[in-house]
Amino acid sequence: MDGDAPFSFDTIPHPAPVAESERVALLANPDFGRVFTDHMVTIRYTKGQGWHDARVEARQPITLDPAAAVLHYAQEIFEGLKAYHVEGGGAQLFRPDANARRFADSADRLAMPALPEAMFVESVQRLVAVDRAWIPTGPGGSLYLRPFMIAGEAFLGVKPASQYLYMVIASPVGSYFKGGAKPISVWVSRHYTRAAPGGTGAAKCGGNYAASLPAQAEAMRQGCDQVVFLDAAERRWVEELGGMNMFFAFADGSLQTPPLNGTILPGITRDSIITLARSKGMTVREEPYSIEQWRADAASGTLREAFACGTAAVIAPVGRVEDGANSFAMLEGLANDSVAETLRRELTDLQRGAIADPHGWVQRVF
Ligand SMILES: *Cc1c(COP(=O)(O)O)cnc(C)c1O
Repeated sequence: MDGDAPFSFDTIPHPAPVAESERVALLANPDFGRVFTDHMVTIRYTKGQGWHDARVEARQPITLDPAAAVLHYAQEIFEGLKAYHVEGGGAQLFRPDANARRFADSADRLAMPALPEAMFVESVQRLVAVDRAWIPTGPGGSLYLRPFMIAGEAFLGVKPASQYLYMVIASPVGSYFKGGAKPISVWVSRHYTRAAPGGTGAAKCGGNYAASLPAQAEAMRQGCDQVVFLDAAERRWVEELGGMNMFFAFADGSLQTPPLNGTILPGITRDSIITLARSKGMTVREEPYSIEQWRADAASGTLREAFACGTAAVIAPVGRVEDGANSFAMLEGLANDSVAETLRRELTDLQRGAIADPHGWVQRVF
């Protein structure tokens, strides 16, 4: 076991942060993931020494040896969460402890050292506090946080690296859907799969995304926004989109979402929706749902809505399913009183502190 040295965090303020006028212009309506704050977090890990050298410092390029393990064998994991401006002042995080736990699970799957969960949460809190001027205050805006870890050891042998770098960067984002939640169209990937039993589907690792890109490109060529992946074994069961989990809302008032069986990413938005829906008295099933059943239920009217969910977009209703000759439309779920919209409103109100939080999910930063 590596001992983690008594933990100290150095803050080295940026010597020349972005000028206020420029920052205000950048914050006006940023595209997702293109604008970054002044600072970043770095914490290093060395086998035998454990985690050390934690700091918040000026955001800048990092140097890596060309033989760094991450560049060859993709030992990399990441997280995504948001800090929200609270009306009346201050900022809060939504379930950062859940991200910390999932980060540790992802680390385990990729043979990387676990970052203590308290250190993860503290790193995020410190960056948000230092870069507080970058949290958008407009409707739908938030500061998107991207913690990640890479293997830094310079060695071309195939083994878990002995050195790692953990970082957090932050990016102010506007509302994911400019001008209100628009229904998305999804392309059913019949050729590519996202995750196989025993694979890394439940880990949040960059490699999963790299492998999903040709399917996403195919979806876009077909005029769709996103890919919906089916299971790798039977090519039948709906799993999830490239980066969002799926829910189905039925005419009888119940909800269904595919179960976490190792090939689906355990979304924190997914988990929150299950809790919110159950606390409203709705029945939520975590059971497999096939693409044929989806089509049949949409045709018969048994199924009212389908929607995708994740931190970036929160909830996105699915308006059209493109599957060659078997394509179909989902006409409902777009109205103001839809299940998708009702849950989206409740979740975003919670995240922004507009309603009370009976679940203990929000964590105040300042
Ligand atoms: C991150 C992610 C999600 C959504 O997870 P949230 O915690 O809700 O943001 C869903 N699917 C995949 C593949 C993901 O990487």
